[in-house]
Amino acid sequence: MELLLFHSGFARTSHLEEADLILVNTCSVREKAEQKIFSLFGGMRPLKRANPDLVMGVTGCLAQQEGERLLKRIPFLDFILGPDHIEDIPQAVDLALETQQPFIWNDFDKKKNYSIPEVSANRPLANPSAFINIIKGCDKFCSFCVVPHTRGREKSREAAEIYNEVRQLVARGAKEIILLGQNVNAYGKHGLETPVAFHQLLYGIAGIPGVKRLRFTTSYPNDFTPELIQAYRDLDILVNHLHLPAQSGNNRILREMRRGNTVEEYLALSDALQTGVPDIELTSDIIVGYPGETESEFEDTLRFMERVGFSSSFMFCYSPRPGTPAASLLDNVSEPVKKERLQKTMACQNELTRVQGEKYLGKEVEVLIEGRSPRKNGGFKGRNPQFWRVNFSGDESGLQAGDLVNVVVDEVSGHALKGRASVTLDPI
Ligand code: SAH
Repeated sequence: MELLLFHSGFARTSHLEEADLILVNTCSVREKAEQKIFSLFGGMRPLKRANPDLVMGVTGCLAQQEGERLLKRIPFLDFILGPDHIEDIPQAVDLALETQQPFIWNDFDKKKNYSIPEVSANRPLANPSAFINIIKGCDKFCSFCVVPHTRGREKSREAAEIYNEVRQLVARGAKEIILLGQNVNAYGKHGLETPVAFHQLLYGIAGIPGVKRLRFTTSYPNDFTPELIQAYRDLDILVNHLHLPAQSGNNRILREMRRGNTVEEYLALSDALQTGVPDIELTSDIIVGYPGETESEFEDTLRFMERVGFSSSFMFCYSPRPGTPAASLLDNVSEPVKKERLQKTMACQNELTRVQGEKYLGKEVEVLIEGRSPRKNGGFKGRNPQFWRVNFSGDESGLQAGDLVNVVVDEVSGHALKGRASVTLDPI
């Protein structure tokens, strides 16, 4: 959105009072974003009074889901635009500038393809890691998840368009490409003009000069193919890290969640990855307190996490999301029990992270430098291929963001490593 608006003459400001346009982007996956929106806009009301030309919009999934209600509750809001229409943001802003009438942007002439118009900005990137959306929506309909209801069905972008964007980003200084989607590994399953499977897309991007690292998130266990495992073996730039949400380690709960896989299937996949791809690390998403989850079913999840050995996880208490099948179930695991399970899950993960982290002590890791460390004693920050944060000291004048360096690790804390740079692998 920022890039598209940049081409309509907008530039980012860090001072709210200076803004001609304020967009609040929202997420509806968890918690009530709604309440936050109301208080946020309440605080911004004086800005609108001071500058009646100020345009204010709400974007993202909450906009898609609660558009009417938001417009009713926040009368000075100018427009609402959901994730299906991100690429229309410049037109929506134009319309808001022309009309005083609040509106919900709806392009009923929906294009069949998911395409983000080409924008050739020459500005250097602030960060050597750049994100590219390759697929949107989700067809999985997990019982707890609002995503298919707010984002619609899976739609992939044409590979040629993605390659083009990669080239542009590399020209602007990107070294690492991070492919984004709710289900990246469903890429290409539906309706591409030129059929390309996800693993083929990875090989295609790896062939573009200047890409030093390639990541993707998030994957769905059932869409994982043997070809994708082979891609890890073949492609040096594909990082040895996979975020693979599991949600639960109990088969009954997985079935209730409509995840479409069993514990055994997940373990077969993680075993295949861990034996086939040396040094690969897996991270996951876990939900505790799903309706009806018993203590022993919850404990299965802890055993499962230990069995896979996730190096990090996002862990959540279940909360009902409007319009999902699970929302009609009795949310019968009490809040204190959910909290307690979450604590136990976090303690379990912390221990797994600690064990994994200690393996790095005294070893060299390859770090893509993101920039200077914000810490007092200086140095640099970056990430290793397995996505650990690495803070390190090194040649202050010789290193810069975007360089790949080897760092010897001498300290671990949480999911972060500390050390000093040894050899510069790839100075610019
Ligand atoms: N595409 C991803 C989901 C992305 S949403 C997948 O493969 O599952 C990110 C995470 O939020 C999910 O993995 C899940 O762990 C969590 N989440 C989604 N809905 C939730 C809910 N109703 N309650 C608690 N956590 C939820």
